[in-house]
Amino acid sequence: MVSLALVFIASCFQISGKGYGPISWTFLIALLLVYPHVQYQLARRSQTPILFAMRSLVLDSVLLGVFCACIEFSDWLCFSVILGTLSNNAANRGWKSIGSTLLALAVGALTGVAMGGFHFSPVTVWSATLVCTVGLAGYILAVGNFAYTRNAQLRLAREELKTREVELLQANQKLQETLVEIESLRNGLAEQAIRDPLTDLFNRRYLDSTLEREIARCVREGKPLALIMVDIDHFKKFNDHYGHLAGDECLKSVSRALQSSAKRASDLAARYGGEEFSLVLPDTDAVQARRMAEELRSAIQRLGIAHDGSSSGVVTVSIGLAVSTHLERASAERLIRAADEALYYAKWGGRNRVQAAPEVAADASPVGSVPEDMEELVWQRAYESGHSEIDTQHAQLFAQVNQVCAAIREQHPRSEVATLVDNLMRHVAEHFECEERVLAAIGFPGLQEHAKLHQHLMDKAVDLIGRYRNTNLPIGELLNYLAQDLIAKHVLGADRKAQLEAGYIGHYTP
Ligand code: GH3
Ligand code: MG
Ligand code: MG
Repeated sequence: MVSLALVFIASCFQISGKGYGPISWTFLIALLLVYPHVQYQLARRSQTPILFAMRSLVLDSVLLGVFCACIEFSDWLCFSVILGTLSNNAANRGWKSIGSTLLALAVGALTGVAMGGFHFSPVTVWSATLVCTVGLAGYILAVGNFAYTRNAQLRLAREELKTREVELLQANQKLQETLVEIESLRNGLAEQAIRDPLTDLFNRRYLDSTLEREIARCVREGKPLALIMVDIDHFKKFNDHYGHLAGDECLKSVSRALQSSAKRASDLAARYGGEEFSLVLPDTDAVQARRMAEELRSAIQRLGIAHDGSSSGVVTVSIGLAVSTHLERASAERLIRAADEALYYAKWGGRNRVQAAPEVAADASPVGSVPEDMEELVWQRAYESGHSEIDTQHAQLFAQVNQVCAAIREQHPRSEVATLVDNLMRHVAEHFECEERVLAAIGFPGLQEHAKLHQHLMDKAVDLIGRYRNTNLPIGELLNYLAQDLIAKHVLGADRKAQLEAGYIGHYTP
């Protein structure tokens, strides 16, 4: 605005007294004094002032071209205006703007000539020349200073930017470190939430949340999933005898054994609660599960943790197992219940043993197993009654019970064992009939009562064989019946009592 005002002053010196009409004066005043203010205000109000100013540079150049024609191409005035316009454009739009600026000036000059005619008096009066020289020098210095200020600002901004960038990098690094820390804390917390603090095994909550998902996965893939439930035998006595701290150590040792059993990544060892543990074994069938359970049981026994209250003198466990494929509509709840039931039978069967759930017993162990302490029955003369038929039958019963035990020991299939027991019971029935006939013939007074015992034994046999065939009977119960109820209590108990009363064994003196 200042430079155009100076151009106006120089123009006044140049053209005063040359008879310029009001139109020319109005144009000069409008262009050099009013137009810059209007442009400035418009630029200020514009949303993008810089862009507005850039666009108006072309119009400025055209109008200044008209000015050159208007002042009859006075050399100093034209030189000053053209140089000012070019440097203004170059400062704002770069070298490439020079061509278009010159073109716009030329267009303006031609327009001026077209409107007012071509008048050419290049000589500039000294006063105008002075104003032009001073103004131009000032203008160039101002442009130089403006460039310097901008440069300095730019340099400062760049330095500031660099500092900010370093700060940002440091903050970013700190943030990364914090994130890593948070992540590791989060992982630690998540681990804590699913682990049992004493044994470091997975806890019940994790087992519950995982088992259902694992069963669903195995069902989807058509694979079996085995669940093993482990319970320490007589642990209360252990605590009572050795103290709670020793109890905790014992729990840790058993947990380690359990953890070593869970060899595959998909196996899961958990503390179910108290002195009970679970082992989830995906993709494991009944036979494999039974083998693993046996290994685990004997591994824990081999730990040799002294236990005064245990019959073996060391800490032992009882194990129940169930397999998903043997259950109707397998679910976590059903599987746990089945394994728990099997565990109950393992306890009932004398502890320190593995028992498969009834549904899987046939697969897991074809016939169950004979307790190690069960001895072969040996018929002795002392058992003879003196009635040869009855004695022969009794001796035959002994042999048949031994045969059943042998078949169980040799792991014959369950159906074969059941057939042997069937045969045995057929002979028992025949024997009972014979015995009742003999007792009736001699008018034995306790006959009715004895016959009742026979009926009761037969009823129990039918029930046991039925359950054994349907695979839901632990082998111990069947053996117990044969060895205890049939042989010990009846043949060697009730029968001998009856025989004594009836007088059959009179000829024999032990
Ligand atoms: P069984 O052979 O029938 O399983 O008999 P048991 O004595 O092992 O069974 P019972 O359920 O009667 O007793 C379990 C005991 O386990 C009682 C409790 O004091 C003990 N127990 C449970 N949790 C812990 C524990 O975290 N630390 C210790 N030291 N003992 C525990
Ligand atoms: Mg228990
Ligand atoms: Mg226990």
